[in-house]
Amino acid sequence: MTSPFNRRAALALADPHLQQALGGGTGRFGELRLKAFESTAAPLALRARAREIRRRTFEEVGRHLETLMANLRRAGVEVHAAPDAEAARGIIAGIARRHGAKLAVKSKSMASEEIHLNEALEKAGVRPVETDLGEWILQLAGETPSHLVAPALHKTLDQVADLFARKVDPGAGRDPEALTALARRALRQEFLAAGVGISGVNFAIAETGTLCLVTNEGNGRLVTTLPRVHIALMGFEKVVPTLEEALTLLAVLPRSATGQKITSYFTMVTGPRRPGEPDGPEEVHLVLLDNGRSRHLGGPFQEAFHCIRCGACQNACPVFQTVGGHAYDSVYGGPIGAVLSPMLRGLEASGELAAASSLCGACQEACPVLVDIPRMLIEMRGARVAQRTIGRGEALLFRAAAWTMRRPALWELSFRALSWLGRPLSGRLKAGWLPGALGAWAKGRELPFPARRSFRDRWRERQRGRKAAPASSPAAEERTPEGMVDRLRRQAALGHGPAAPPPDTLPEVEVPDPPARFQHEFEAVGGKVFRPASLEEAKAHLLELAGRWRGRPAAMSGGLPLPAAEWLREAGFEVLPPSGEGDGRDRLAAAGLGVTGCAWAVAETGTLVLPSGGDSPRLHSLLPEAHLALVREETIVPHLSALGPRIRGAIAGERPSCVQLITGPSRSADIALTLIRGVHGPREVYVILLPRGLA
Ligand code: SF4
Repeated sequence: MTSPFNRRAALALADPHLQQALGGGTGRFGELRLKAFESTAAPLALRARAREIRRRTFEEVGRHLETLMANLRRAGVEVHAAPDAEAARGIIAGIARRHGAKLAVKSKSMASEEIHLNEALEKAGVRPVETDLGEWILQLAGETPSHLVAPALHKTLDQVADLFARKVDPGAGRDPEALTALARRALRQEFLAAGVGISGVNFAIAETGTLCLVTNEGNGRLVTTLPRVHIALMGFEKVVPTLEEALTLLAVLPRSATGQKITSYFTMVTGPRRPGEPDGPEEVHLVLLDNGRSRHLGGPFQEAFHCIRCGACQNACPVFQTVGGHAYDSVYGGPIGAVLSPMLRGLEASGELAAASSLCGACQEACPVLVDIPRMLIEMRGARVAQRTIGRGEALLFRAAAWTMRRPALWELSFRALSWLGRPLSGRLKAGWLPGALGAWAKGRELPFPARRSFRDRWRERQRGRKAAPASSPAAEERTPEGMVDRLRRQAALGHGPAAPPPDTLPEVEVPDPPARFQHEFEAVGGKVFRPASLEEAKAHLLELAGRWRGRPAAMSGGLPLPAAEWLREAGFEVLPPSGEGDGRDRLAAAGLGVTGCAWAVAETGTLVLPSGGDSPRLHSLLPEAHLALVREETIVPHLSALGPRIRGAIAGERPSCVQLITGPSRSADIALTLIRGVHGPREVYVILLPRGLA
């Protein structure tokens, strides 16, 4: 009998739209991933270090979770434990009800998909609105995500355009940019009206009690800033002990997911808004989800918790590339999903997914934290056999194989017989020629012609040759196919990771001129840098930029290194002060240019770092059409890793409720993988880079 997975896979193979959508998508992600790692000094050492961080975290996961909870509470976050999906749904719906919320905006969260949160919110009278562009498309279509990072990967441009024409605007058209602009307009209203914001968590930093979100569109920032209440939901595996370790994982996650050095936004939330801060939620809750995870701690599948949900294994997997994510019938599809789904839902429900793999190892090869997925798939298959969740026929077949394998002579004889019998069939075996379940198995397969000499024969011959003759030189080995393959195999094994333990301090690319490198990287992600030689030039740049949105107000943070507000007022611009409440938020949303300072900037990635504070609202770099940052050259650090001690110092000292890393404009590729700017946040980003002594 055909298994449910096979039936779903057959439907996927017969769906021309899905095949068209999958065709370019997964392959393009794979190419971008390989290119992105080229910009690191030691890609293998970086990945080995990331793996080590995840491995060590789970050696003492209980201690790290205790530290995390203590520091979250210290920062003013209310922590809730949810042993299962029902408890998590109840907690979140209860918080929303308590605050009288009728509308909840959500940023992408696989954990919320796992617990089917939207249905529970609707039952509780709260309308959930997905705000990630891909998730919004799926909500309109009544579908579920098919990929960890690109949830609407399975949809073609024509399908999205038809959906928008039916559900959003009959004149929506087929231009991805226009479709994205429609989504921006529709969702802006929802953000401004929502009572509750619900997000996932990429990393939860134990030492500071900080919840981190890795996003590109800016919806994560809006969800965690505009509503009065922010509820974060995460499986306990998202804990990371220290800031530096989170920054190392940040160096591999976007590279593996979308081929970016870093995403447009890395949002670090440490509690609700502080007294004096003009924006941010008044309450922050964390729902810590178990839902079947803890029974695997210390077991053979614990390594699956090392996963940082980048989706690279899905892109690399030949099965996923062919049938897409929905064939797995689980929120977690692809190779890691084939392990996670049975872990969370049980072998009975999802164990068959372990067989949906060729065990080629491409998933582990692609994984930034080197999760040994093939090993776990094999163990999962073993567990299915042990629990007898496989069919009787299959079990009988494997028992017979095991009995024969324990008798080497019989095993060899049976293979000789099979080879002899198979010869007339090979090349002529077609779909359906075999009876029953064997016919289904043979569908799409071709029986190769059996080798004239078996592996065992060739091995014996080789051993005899080695005894008779002196060891062959490498050059002589190269002349035989076996010798060459052997050498390649040994070399490939070396390429799987450094043999020595990874160093604590990773080698980093040299940055001899940080301001020049910052400018190069900032412009590479779509920004524009001005480097004025005098205050007059700086003023002229500022007025020229603001003039592009003449007639619209300019939003101004305080404590800037230039008298920018004064210059703009003198030139007749309306200037909005650093406040974002009530009507102020609508005014801010209508602003053309938002002007902020910048605590630090990172040369190697072109990143701006903006801690929140009384003078530094979160929204000024988010709601206006364009964002301008005034950056002093001496605040540029060479590498992302240099931010660790600085951010730690800020969290301990000024205690910002949010530290925001910004790298380029808001962006999305959720419509047919076409890159569009300004989906939720600013379309354009500018920097006036001030030389030493000018400010
Ligand atoms: S298993 Fe590895 S490659 Fe797959 S999603 Fe997780 S981190 Fe990415």
